[in-house]
Amino acid sequence: MLKDASNPYRQLPSVDELLRRCDAETERWGRTRVRDCLRAVLEDRRREIASGREVELSAEICREELLARLGAGERPGPVPVYNLTGTVVHTNLGRAGLPASAVEAVARVAGTACNLEFDLDTGERGDRESHVESLLRELTGAEAATVVNNNAAAVLLVLNTLAPGREVPVSRGELVEIGDSFRMPEVMQRSGCTLVEVGSTNRTHPRDYENAINDDTALLMKVHTSNYRVAGFTAAVSETQLARLAAERDIPLVCDLGSGCLVDFAALGLPAEPTASDVLGRGADLVTFSGDKLLGGPQCGIIAGRADLVARVRRNPLKRTLRPDKMTLAALAEVLRLYRHPERLLRELPTLRLLTRPVSELRALAERLRPRLAAVLTDVEISIEACRGQIGSGALPVENIPSVALRLAPASGEDRALRALARSLRGLPTPVIGRIHKAALWLDLRCLEDEAGFLAQLESPGS
Ligand SMILES: *Cc1c(COP(=O)(O)O)cnc(C)c1O
Repeated sequence: MLKDASNPYRQLPSVDELLRRCDAETERWGRTRVRDCLRAVLEDRRREIASGREVELSAEICREELLARLGAGERPGPVPVYNLTGTVVHTNLGRAGLPASAVEAVARVAGTACNLEFDLDTGERGDRESHVESLLRELTGAEAATVVNNNAAAVLLVLNTLAPGREVPVSRGELVEIGDSFRMPEVMQRSGCTLVEVGSTNRTHPRDYENAINDDTALLMKVHTSNYRVAGFTAAVSETQLARLAAERDIPLVCDLGSGCLVDFAALGLPAEPTASDVLGRGADLVTFSGDKLLGGPQCGIIAGRADLVARVRRNPLKRTLRPDKMTLAALAEVLRLYRHPERLLRELPTLRLLTRPVSELRALAERLRPRLAAVLTDVEISIEACRGQIGSGALPVENIPSVALRLAPASGEDRALRALARSLRGLPTPVIGRIHKAALWLDLRCLEDEAGFLAQLESPGS
């Protein structure tokens, strides 16, 4: 039947008519969604007709618009990127990458029921932390340990359990802000305890703590100054001294370690960092640390130390609001198991493998990549530069680790060209994230392991 040419509304195809041609789309996006989008497309057409504009009415055009609408809002969740920033444990880039064994452990339980809180021996209700607690005890030397959502939660929970309505002295040199969302004084306040600042920014002495302790003091707290360092005329009170003082006054010493390190970094040729077992050995009653910083595991916070204190922390009703899920615990258990095999650990744990990669290997990688990049990046000068990277996430901020970078400088020297170059690398299927520094884009190669994949997407874009 001929459509009425004089009435433009009548020339519009019907939703059903269009829907019949959209088998592939309904298969992919679902019939309801496709029909809703078709309605919206036709609605747009009617509005255009009503406004008196010339309107293209073909089914093909409607279909193109349909595809645009279906695709919009289809941005995936987090996608992998190449972290060439030089910061190995980068909070904005998701911190630690998990070892393959942990990824497999997550995949095994993610889509199915598992014995998270079920004791397979007795057939009764179990404890979700049973999967990791004995490993944590073994690796930290603690009597007991518990796991929460992240280290900020660990600090909050410990203080809310042991010090609500009471005082906690902390050195003024340790009242740190980490990232833009964790400020020690604010977390302390929210936990319900009262922060008592002692000492000065650069110097705190044992007598400062002694003078601050009274009947209202709940515990002593020492905070790792993670992301900054006080240098020069400084004094801090050691954990050993604080532990002695706390014991004399019969109150616990809690140490927030920030990055939870479980191995001797100095022995690996890395800047020294106190391990959880060191600090517990010096007399701390509880330590808290992150799972996804130097530990190299999933996001979580670990509380380890005296059994009676850990038991109190576990009984706090807030614990339930901060507990980790099955995927986190599955990943953490695998990562901790790796720590029992030091040789496998260095090979398989991405964080430690990347941090200990020799500079000679990075230089050889740079030599291989430079000509290949030069062939695909026009109007860009590429040089190989020695540079310094960071561990990241607040760990050891001053002790940079030597690395090698490709320095990409637009031939024009224009800032606009530099930003366009950085944007085009970010626009690749697996975005490449470098660092802009001194009029160039620096690609630090310490974290580049997938050399073939990196080159493939540069050399054949669109494939
Ligand atoms: C990183 C850090 C935190 C916060 O840990 P998250 O795991 O990011 O919650 C707390 N305290 C210190 C000292 C830190 O370095």
